[in-house]
Amino acid sequence: MINLLKNLVAIKSDTEIGANDALRYCSSWLTSHAIPHQVLENEGRLMIHAEVGQGPTTIVWNGHVDVVPAKIEQFNPIIEGDRLYGRGSADMKAGVAAMMEAFRHISSIPKQLQQHVVLHIVTDEETGGHKTSGHLVETGHSGDFVICGEPTQLKLSVQSKGVLQIHITFLGKAAHGSRPWEGTNAIEASYIFYEKLMNLPFTKASNCYFEYPSINLAKIQAGDRYNVVPDHCEVGYDIRFIPGQRWEEILQQITNLALSINSKNIVKVYDKMSAIITSEDNNYIKSLSELTAKVTQKEAVLFGQHGAADTRFYVNTGAIAIEFGPSGDDWHGPNEYVLISSVEQYADILTKHALT
Ligand SMILES: [Zn+2]
Repeated sequence: MINLLKNLVAIKSDTEIGANDALRYCSSWLTSHAIPHQVLENEGRLMIHAEVGQGPTTIVWNGHVDVVPAKIEQFNPIIEGDRLYGRGSADMKAGVAAMMEAFRHISSIPKQLQQHVVLHIVTDEETGGHKTSGHLVETGHSGDFVICGEPTQLKLSVQSKGVLQIHITFLGKAAHGSRPWEGTNAIEASYIFYEKLMNLPFTKASNCYFEYPSINLAKIQAGDRYNVVPDHCEVGYDIRFIPGQRWEEILQQITNLALSINSKNIVKVYDKMSAIITSEDNNYIKSLSELTAKVTQKEAVLFGQHGAADTRFYVNTGAIAIEFGPSGDDWHGPNEYVLISSVEQYADILTKHALT
């Protein structure tokens, strides 16, 4: 399995072509182990769907082989002690390699499975996921319980924050820069908005996994000359809200504030996504926690994820979807690595969980 992981890391999959190459490598590996699977294509992106077992319920293992861009040296996997360094080692070719190995294992003993196990390998998670995981879900490939193998230090992410990305146009009145009192400065309006935004009721929410929603003032564009009062200011906010909050209510608070500053200001939603909550009492979560504790000899940890992953597509079908994967550090950074021992434990946990 570690060889499989090294071979995957060595494929420069930070482009569409490269990610498809990595996907074809996974397909040829599955073929060489006589594992039936389909390679599907959507808008130029490849993905794998494989299925084994029988029974009334379905577990899905989802992993992506695309990675964020890196220097060429990072596509040369290096092992130092228990660490395997390289782009995508943690995020998330380790998860993919372990899922493939576990899938190979259960495919050799299919009669022992009391449920369907589906393997999804996808190629566009880092650029939104709509073309592969989104496409798989849209074309009817979901399940009851979904594990996305993102690196989580073998902790179970049972919640993830929702996303609300908004674009606001602040309007003012232009005037000569020497007589600013004759105009209305749109940049100043956006500044007043920012200060009030940070105190809106929605910003005070918290729960046992998250202390507060996050607000990132991500974009700003305004003003083009010193001697003019700007009458236009465009800003973009990326808000990550707490499970239990609704983006519609947050948008209402933001819109009311923007309009209270100038009734002509324009608020537009760029993107939105509901937060994910999984009950800690769910049977899949319980059995996965117990197995994780058994295999790692440590108490299983449940946590809340700040970012979003391909889980979001599956939850739309009513599935329970969590992020759960091996241990590592510095993914998306220059020293990304995964702990080899955690990849082996992870494959073991997945196999045992599929067989329970
Ligand atoms: Zn990832």
